Amino acid sequence: MYIEVLTQITSKAVDQYYTYKVPDKYKDKITIGIRVKIPFGKMILEGFVMNILSDTNYDKSKIKEIISITDDTPVLNKEMLSLGKYMSNTLLCSLVSAYQVMLPKALKAEINTNIKIKYNKYLRRIKSIEEIDEYIKKCKYEGQINLLCKLKEKDVLITKMTSTINTIIKHGFGEIYLEEEKRYTYKGISNYKKVILNEEQERASKEVINSFNKSNTFLLYGVTGSGKTEVYMKIIEESLNQGKEAIMLVPEISLTPQVVGKFISRFGNIISVLHSKLSDIERYDEYRKITNGESKIVIGTRSAIFVPFTNIGVIIIDEEHTSSYKQENHPKYNAKDIAILRSKYHKCPVVMGSATPSLESFARAGNKVYKLLMLSKRPTSSSMPIVNIVDMKEEVKKGNFIMSDILKSKIKEKLEQKEQIIILLNRRGYSSIISCKDCGYTEKCPKCDITYTYHKSSNNLKCHYCGTSKPLNTKCSNCGSTNIKDYGLGTEKLEEELNKLFTARVVRMDVDTTSKKGQHQQIIDSFQKHQYDILIGTQMIAKGLDFPLVTLVGVVSVDSSLMAPDFRASENTYQLLSQVAGRAGRSQNKGEVIIQTYNPEHYSITYAKNHDYLGFYKEEMKMRKLLKYPPYYYIVLINIMSKEYENGFKEANKIGNYLRTKLNNNTIILGPSMANIFKINNIYHYQIIIKYQKDELLINTLNFIINMYKTNNKINVEVDFNPIKI
Ligand code: ADP
Ligand code: ZN
Ligand code: ZN
Repeated sequence: MYIEVLTQITSKAVDQYYTYKVPDKYKDKITIGIRVKIPFGKMILEGFVMNILSDTNYDKSKIKEIISITDDTPVLNKEMLSLGKYMSNTLLCSLVSAYQVMLPKALKAEINTNIKIKYNKYLRRIKSIEEIDEYIKKCKYEGQINLLCKLKEKDVLITKMTSTINTIIKHGFGEIYLEEEKRYTYKGISNYKKVILNEEQERASKEVINSFNKSNTFLLYGVTGSGKTEVYMKIIEESLNQGKEAIMLVPEISLTPQVVGKFISRFGNIISVLHSKLSDIERYDEYRKITNGESKIVIGTRSAIFVPFTNIGVIIIDEEHTSSYKQENHPKYNAKDIAILRSKYHKCPVVMGSATPSLESFARAGNKVYKLLMLSKRPTSSSMPIVNIVDMKEEVKKGNFIMSDILKSKIKEKLEQKEQIIILLNRRGYSSIISCKDCGYTEKCPKCDITYTYHKSSNNLKCHYCGTSKPLNTKCSNCGSTNIKDYGLGTEKLEEELNKLFTARVVRMDVDTTSKKGQHQQIIDSFQKHQYDILIGTQMIAKGLDFPLVTLVGVVSVDSSLMAPDFRASENTYQLLSQVAGRAGRSQNKGEVIIQTYNPEHYSITYAKNHDYLGFYKEEMKMRKLLKYPPYYYIVLINIMSKEYENGFKEANKIGNYLRTKLNNNTIILGPSMANIFKINNIYHYQIIIKYQKDELLINTLNFIINMYKTNNKINVEVDFNPIKI
């Protein structure tokens, strides 16, 4: 018996099957999709079994035997095997990288995956109670008697090894066995009550439920606070009633605590939660609950879309417009595309929900590719918040660089009324630039050529691209002057400013305050309990959070988001503003929002002020049409990376020329040009952008280019379909 194995190596050149011989002792255990250990050159590697052959044309004397098998049951089932092939063909990633991304670390093909599974020891009674009683009568040792009495009661005891236990085992009263420890850490929300759906919610859920067993995609467009979560739960409940499983994707861990809490309260612990902050072993635990049928619902971030459920009833994607559904490194898949593929396999609906759908999705709903479901109002008595726009050009004249008069007075008012406040500032750290007042020198990260951000709490300069940090110099490294000043505003400085101006309890939520596990939840919990008055944070506070006492949301500055060099800048800004505004006034108390900007006339801001998604959509679609961007054109981004400036430039040009000779005439090829962030970690990034509507030659042409550079270890070429950022 021979097998074809896909090895763990993701290096550019190796992406083929290797043939191995299976020794007799393993013949019965070999199935497609299990992992095997194999000799590979001088190494021992792990790989997936892809094919089983009775014979081979290769020289049999040269074929090596596998060393051992890793799994009793396949880690890749039939659906996953074909999904991986599809990903590899359409995303132009290596097949093995597609498989690896589907699996938790413990099940990836990787030699030395050091996942330490924690076992508990149990002592099990194996003699009858009568026999034990007999022994107890004669026994003189108190320890043994106590233990045996417990064993009589319970049959099984969790235990550590002691000499008493050894004696009991020696006398044949019990035996030891091991079982993997299971952890379960999520808790429900104490005040969760199932609501009675209103008419719109009822109608939306019915439409999906009536479409069970069909692979339709729905777009649930519901304003913030319109009760989308309740609709999701209703649909999932119905799917469970029909004996099926459900996947629900959420964008970020910061969203999960409250949503997961609601789900756990309603469905109990048939839920598995998968997100990036789980340890490898916790992830594996959750995964096992899925494969052994304990879990029926998975809530998770992007990669949860791959969970090996075999009978999916519905897939839900909350906040579908979120960029985190797209993976930024290889394989650059979008979980929304995978969801639709899986829905075809399982014949189940996909529901994508958002208050601010992505333009692509809303356009598809317009073309009837997706079915549009709408929730137009909030079910509670609360109305949409009132939005004020403040022109910072005027405020600066008055000396208000950080906060306008109106924002300050509103904060004061809400504090007096004992209500809560959220303030968004989409930049972490203390200040964005440190520079010398005498010579103008600004210190930059030498590896990325990007200015450092100053973090006052650690007194460090940090590069937000490569993560390098170094202590702040009190002297200018150029001229030695001590006249060093910081410019720009980050969340740390904002926190300091708020503490100066108000006597309020302020808490900050950004990457720096939530890097440890549980910190997120802790901040959210304590803000929920009103242990703080003001929550400040980056965009991670914009989505999904539901705090009834919040009546004021302030956006300190939207301009960096608005001016980002990206065709999605307006869309992203509109979404950010609507989402964060949606945190205000979610209960009886009226909500107010204050947006500070230097561009008060911009349409992203004015439409967000009026909660007018449709208006924004129409305006932005005009721009996209004019400039030939999605959803009118598809985009492919080719990234050409090299440590050598010249060589990178030369090869990028070669690729550009080749594309121009090969692709359709109406396909647009831009570049090569330097990427927005040209140098990261000492690697230069060139890019070529392809805009196309239909080009049958595209995939093959790109494939050819990738293959050509597979063996070139000085140049790396990556292709990104429908990139999030360009
Ligand atoms: P969304 O996800 O659309 O922003 P949520 O699902 O978080 O909105 O709902 C907002 C609030 O409205 C929640 O506190 C929720 O409990 C409440 N809610 C939702 N549906 C109803 C309903 N039919 N009746 C009463 N309250 C509801
Ligand atoms: Zn200087
Ligand atoms: Zn750097």
